[in-house]
Amino acid sequence: MERVDCIVIGAGVIGLAVARRIASAGLETVVLEREAIPGSHASSRNSEVIHAGLYYPPGSRKARLCVRGRQQLYRYCQERGVAHRRCGKLIVATSEDQHATLQSYVSTAGRNGVTDLAWLTPREVAAMEPAVHCTAALWSPSTGILSSHDLLQALLGDVEASGGLLACRTEVVSAQLGSGRHHVIVQQDGARSEFETRLLVNAAGLDAQVVARTVAGLDSATIPPRHLAKGLYFTLQGRAPFGHLIYPVARSDGGLGIHVTVDLGGGVRFGPDVEWISAIDYSVDESRRAAFAAAIRRYYPDLDAARLQPGYAGIRARISGPGEPAADFCLQRPDEHGWQGLVNLYGIESPGLTASLAIADEVAAALGVVPAPTDN
Ligand SMILES: Cc1cc2nc3c(=O)[nH]c(=O)nc-3n(C[C@H](O)[C@H](O)[C@H](O)COP(=O)(O)OP(=O)(O)OC[C@H]3O[C@@H](n4cnc5c(N)ncnc54)[C@H](O)[C@@H]3O)c2cc1C
Repeated sequence: MERVDCIVIGAGVIGLAVARRIASAGLETVVLEREAIPGSHASSRNSEVIHAGLYYPPGSRKARLCVRGRQQLYRYCQERGVAHRRCGKLIVATSEDQHATLQSYVSTAGRNGVTDLAWLTPREVAAMEPAVHCTAALWSPSTGILSSHDLLQALLGDVEASGGLLACRTEVVSAQLGSGRHHVIVQQDGARSEFETRLLVNAAGLDAQVVARTVAGLDSATIPPRHLAKGLYFTLQGRAPFGHLIYPVARSDGGLGIHVTVDLGGGVRFGPDVEWISAIDYSVDESRRAAFAAAIRRYYPDLDAARLQPGYAGIRARISGPGEPAADFCLQRPDEHGWQGLVNLYGIESPGLTASLAIADEVAAALGVVPAPTDN
């Protein structure tokens, strides 16, 4: 049996950011990842947008950690050479009845500390993005894009530079909580082995609830429901008609609407939509092209649907279901579930990538590893 200070379950962006934070405090940290490479799930199947923090309810973890995490992330990308661009985003209303929603973003953003939104007229939008139709728009200059692959690599590099380790193809199959030390059973190449650890972080993303249910000692009443909300992307073949991110007003289903993301290579993708599913499935249903085209044409009327190519799918880790208001990030601390040294992370959907460094600070603080930062 190996004894370590901290085990992090899952090498997505959250697990790696947490491991980086804890390893940098001098604690021996091991990240256990079921897949062959880190970031095989949500952390590589997303829009790669650095969100400003416009939409989330004021006072929520999503709002607070998005705004703080965004500032940390821009700094980190710069320091560590993570490819990124502060390209800005347009949020466009395509009918007058959507103007009130834009206004609500301005006031929510202001309460979240995001005070740089600017109103644009259709003429000003046409000067920036001639292909876009709108009746009014907001400009968010602090929104950007990044390479999630670069981010994962940089975080992993930091973990290893601090003496931490990543074990891939290593699935956590169960754990036993104890006072002071926890035991984690893993399966690797068909063989089982065991770790003993003082700190245990469940950052298993979509499977955080599955992992939590295998943890002996954890009250199952503390485990929130898991809802899977799949999102598809279509890419646009040929010349890119846009230089900025373009979002319609958000939808009532909890998605941000089928928006335009430009990637760092200048490519354009549309998505994600929202489809509630019961099992993890990343297949791309090409028959959704028509629905995509209809949604996109509201703000990009000249779209040639034949240029839409099936892209990829991601799955949001939700703890609220269809028709329910989107739940906040759930970061379950020792005082909530009763076990010292354990943090469970559930429902880390968007803006989890943006908030990753701030989430890591909050997890570390909950475990008493470092004081919560107050300077950013
Ligand atoms: C469609 C979509 C678009 C998004 N767009 C954005 C965006 O533009 N901006 C933004 O800020 N956020 C965005 N997000 C959110 C962001 O991608 C996630 O919040 C973030 O990637 C979550 O990271 P994670 O580490 O929690 O999960 P994951 O990346 O899924 O990592 C969890 C890891 O745990 C591993 N694991 C699971 N079970 C076990 C086990 N038993 N043993 C060992 N390992 C295990 C998995 O293999 C996986 O690698 C988006 C999400 C989706 C789905």
